[in-house]
Amino acid sequence: MSSKSPPVFRLLNEGSRRIGRFAPLEGVPGVLHAVTTRDGFDVARAAADKEAAAVEAAEILGVRAAAWCRQVHGDNVVVAGSSGCAGEADAILTREASLGVMAFSADCPLILAADTSGGVVGVAHTSWRSTVAGLAGKFIAAMMREGNCPSGELTACICPSAGACCYEVGQDVLDAAVAGIGEHAGRFFLRRNGKMHFDLWGANRDALLRAGLRAENIFGADTCTLCRNDLFPSYRKEADAAGRFVAVIARK
Ligand SMILES: [Zn+2]
Repeated sequence: MSSKSPPVFRLLNEGSRRIGRFAPLEGVPGVLHAVTTRDGFDVARAAADKEAAAVEAAEILGVRAAAWCRQVHGDNVVVAGSSGCAGEADAILTREASLGVMAFSADCPLILAADTSGGVVGVAHTSWRSTVAGLAGKFIAAMMREGNCPSGELTACICPSAGACCYEVGQDVLDAAVAGIGEHAGRFFLRRNGKMHFDLWGANRDALLRAGLRAENIFGADTCTLCRNDLFPSYRKEADAAGRFVAVIARK
C-alpha cells in the first residue's frame, strides 16, 4: 500500500467556503465539479430556493448557469440543454459547455459522473427508493448514449451520504430492494444489534459495476452525513429542519 496516493475526497477552503472535491474528477480534463458543505453555503436556503442554489453553484464552478431536476425518488433521467429546472427526475446530465448540472441531498447519495474525454457530465440522486428502482444503471446507460462513450470510459464518484454505519432501515426496504434489484440485494443489508442497516454505497457501487463501469473508476467519499452532521445536513438527524447541500458538475 502506498501512503503517497492522494485522498479520493478532500475538503478545501476556497474563499469563504469549504468545498469537497474528488481527485479522480479533478483529473478529467475540461471537467469542473464541487460538493458544498455547511461552511460558506446556505443549506437552509438551498432547501427552499433551488434557483438561488443554482446561481451559487454556477458561481462556485465559474460557469454560466446550472440546471437541476425536481427530485422525486424515482428512476427518470433527464438531459439538460439549458439552465433552470429540467423537470421531474432523479438524474440529470448534459453535453453543454459551461452549464452545471446539480442535485440536492440531505443523506441521499449523489453520484457525480463524467466520461474521460469530458464530453458528458451528470449527477444522480440515489435515495433508497431510487437505488432499488435501479436509477444508477439507467443513469449510466444515459451517460453512454449522450456521450457516445463506452462504460469503461466513465468515472463515477459517490458523494457524502448516509453510511451503513448509521442508515437503519426496516424490513420494508429490504423487501423493496429484493423486488427491485434482485436477491443479491440482500448482501447490502447488515444486521447489527437487532437492527438492520442498508449499505447504500455498496448497493450503488454494485449497480455501477453491473452497468459496466470498471471497479477502478468508481470512487466514494466514504463520508457519512449522519456522522458528519457538523459538515453536511442530514434528514435522519434534523428531519424537516434539514437543509440541503449540493453536488454540481460541468464541462468547461
Ligand atoms: Zn455514520
